[in-house]
Amino acid sequence: FLIEDPKYSFLKELGLKEKNVGVFNGKWEANGPVIQSYSPANGKIIAEVQAASPADYEACAVAAQEAWHSWAELPAPSRGEIVRQIGDALREKLQPLGQLVSLEMGKILPEALGEVVEYIHVCDLALGLSRTLPGTIFPSERPGHVLLEKWNPLGAVGIITAFNFPVAVFGWNSALAMVCGDVSVWKPSDTTPLTAVAVTRIVESVLEKNNIPGAVAALCVGGKDIGEKIVKDERMKLVSFTGSTAVGQQVGVEVQRRFGRHLLELGGNNAIIVNADANLDLLLNAALFACAGTAGQRCTTTRRLLIHKKVYSEVVSRLSKAFAGVVSRIGDPLLSETLIGPLHTPAALEGYKKTVAEAVKQGGKIEFGGKVIEREGYFVEPTIITGLPHDSPLVKTETFAPIVYCIEIPDLDTGIKYNNEVEQGLSSSVFTENLGDIFKWIGPHGSDCGIVNVNIPTNGAEVGGAFGGEKATGGGRECGSDSWKNYMRRSTVTINYSGTIKLAQNIKFGD
Ligand code: NAD
Repeated sequence: FLIEDPKYSFLKELGLKEKNVGVFNGKWEANGPVIQSYSPANGKIIAEVQAASPADYEACAVAAQEAWHSWAELPAPSRGEIVRQIGDALREKLQPLGQLVSLEMGKILPEALGEVVEYIHVCDLALGLSRTLPGTIFPSERPGHVLLEKWNPLGAVGIITAFNFPVAVFGWNSALAMVCGDVSVWKPSDTTPLTAVAVTRIVESVLEKNNIPGAVAALCVGGKDIGEKIVKDERMKLVSFTGSTAVGQQVGVEVQRRFGRHLLELGGNNAIIVNADANLDLLLNAALFACAGTAGQRCTTTRRLLIHKKVYSEVVSRLSKAFAGVVSRIGDPLLSETLIGPLHTPAALEGYKKTVAEAVKQGGKIEFGGKVIEREGYFVEPTIITGLPHDSPLVKTETFAPIVYCIEIPDLDTGIKYNNEVEQGLSSSVFTENLGDIFKWIGPHGSDCGIVNVNIPTNGAEVGGAFGGEKATGGGRECGSDSWKNYMRRSTVTINYSGTIKLAQNIKFGD
């Protein structure tokens, strides 16, 4: 076990052991299968986590529901104070938690730290929200009546998360759900269970210090079986699901079947349009991170570059050079010189190989990369492919690896058409200096994505805005803006203090 290696002493700083319990319902207790957590950088086992049995899930759901009663009674600013303390506890553990994310997920340390910072930022946002959660009063048409809108917590929320943001996605949901008065049962990805245990321990420490039931933030490590339990469970008033479009679609249908609420954050197939007038230095700087960063394992990774014919050759050749410049810096994500870490699993490595082979078979040209790197762990070269039609099924599919397709366009309108022709609708960007083109891009006939950028990469969102995408990305929104509404139910309330019954629309009923 890597946990015994002093090089990874941060694991013990987080309270992790060789064998860990992956279920928390106020008590740590698990009876399900044992999951081994691997480091994608070397394929070695870090430590083990015992996952949830069906009975363990049941205990979590019951405990969470029980905890909800007292939690929902706390005033929102008091709940915000708890979330503030969680933010502070995360600040204290920033380094070791970031290191754990880097070791277990495989992203480089600065990005792993950034992910923990994102959770901290959401705690700050949620703290402010806890004192400003709105409720509107509308003018009533009836004398002596008040017409108002009251927001109440939903109850228990099921949070199912993907492997690639093992801290932030839980944080986005949890911090907001908590200030809104909800409790949660979290099922993390079964390939990042140690991160989930470490995060839950941090949250637990704050809850315990404040005499709040731990089941306000229950954890249920497990696979598809536990995910399916959450999806079918009527007690989970909202299912917030982050993951692939294929699974998300099943989740959406199942939750709808029981008229539950769902928040879906699914796959992307994000494009950058390079206009003829784009600042190419800016573009290349952004595209390197957007296409190759995180080894292509962000939902917002740029997978298509739609490049104006006037600058096409220059962009492809300069991007190939930029990719060549980072190959020597692919390696152990915990080392400071590394810019790109490994893919997360052997299955992802196979997915990469299959896509590259298929692209070549279909007449695509590998401009750069295309190979698995021969070393321990799951490393691949960032890859640029040209020559495939804009609408080929391969180009329209999300492969979760650092592969970018370059496609030539004659003008912006064609770029927008290609941007919008994929089934996903998460993130998009245009590089241009033209004001008219910017407004076209953000207007009704522009990008149809949830995230529409100008002169920045498709990835790397801030928490202040609402995050999410349209179409097969699921339509959900998390984080800032009015995303809190997902976690509350709205009642329209009319109060009559006039002493007489008056009907709306001045309807007279009887004498
Ligand atoms: P995945 O769909 O394989 O798994 C996501 C989660 O769903 C995991 O916790 C998994 O155990 C669980 N799960 C699997 N089958 C289930 C079922 N039948 N019912 C309920 N839960 C089930 O996704 P992944 O490989 O972990 O993550 C990568 C995908 O996630 C990519 O498509 C990426 O674009 C997407 N993603 C989207 C966002 C976003 O905000 N839009 C963010 C991160 C990742």
